[in-house]
Amino acid sequence: MKHVKTKHEVRATVSGWKAEGKKVAFVPTMGALHQGHLALINKARALADHVVVSVFVNPTQFGPEEDFDKYPRPLEHDLDKCRKEGVSLVFVPERSEMYGREQPGKRPLLTFSINRMNEHLCGNTRKGHFEGVLQVVCKLLNIVQPDFMILGQKDIQQYFIIRQMAEEFDFPVEVKIVPTQRDKDGLALSSRNVYLSKEDRAMAPMLFDAIQKVSRRLMEGFADDEINDGEDQTIEVDSLILSKESERLRENGFNVDYLSLVTTPDLQPAETIQPGRLYVIAVA
Ligand code: AMP
Repeated sequence: MKHVKTKHEVRATVSGWKAEGKKVAFVPTMGALHQGHLALINKARALADHVVVSVFVNPTQFGPEEDFDKYPRPLEHDLDKCRKEGVSLVFVPERSEMYGREQPGKRPLLTFSINRMNEHLCGNTRKGHFEGVLQVVCKLLNIVQPDFMILGQKDIQQYFIIRQMAEEFDFPVEVKIVPTQRDKDGLALSSRNVYLSKEDRAMAPMLFDAIQKVSRRLMEGFADDEINDGEDQTIEVDSLILSKESERLRENGFNVDYLSLVTTPDLQPAETIQPGRLYVIAVA
């Protein structure tokens, strides 16, 4: 396994593979790898001859009050995991390698702007986050130039926004998604779970419960509707279902950013549900 720090080394290696007709799958991460990341790496291995993983805690996607400084960075552990998973190349750039021309304290001269897709969910509570994500993913895609990029369903808004960028700007990459990997009690695996106290960790699975409850209640709506009116299966979303569950989380001490049901791919609040369409229930 190669461990490289420069764009140049990534490009040289990948272009060598491509000259041999090999396919490349890319898994972008911020490190502190866990079973969730490994599921992405597995998917990547199944799709391509070579897997590239990037480990970069991207400063431009963190808000000023967020955890950039304390974000875990166990590099040796990450390299070890990648080696065991048969990764071909790990790209671990310094900040200066990625953003050499940035001027401290000055806004960049050019950024992405996102319409509609970041009005809700984390786009609403983490201003500027997805613009930073697109900036780094755009750069990484241009550096690695993979055939496939693998993302996790845990960050579903990120997946839809990145997929949209790839489509609208004709990135020659196929974006794939892997289901959320969870601990036995239902908590989504996350590098940030190490921040949880023992008490908070014990409570945290309530998030998954809330999502599942909302999903079940909505499905019951469908079942009732079928009995009452088999013709038109569109059902109104009872927003009480969502507000009751977020209230229950609040009562249990959660600081709820949102518990929402949104349409795809535009990620707008869903007022009705129609069969055959894809909706997302998300909580933070
Ligand atoms: P991160 O290192 O947190 O930026 O995540 C890197 C990639 O791994 C993103 O595409 C995430 O959505 C994905 N990921 C993180 N945790 C999980 C999980 N529990 N299940 C599935 N994918 C995940």
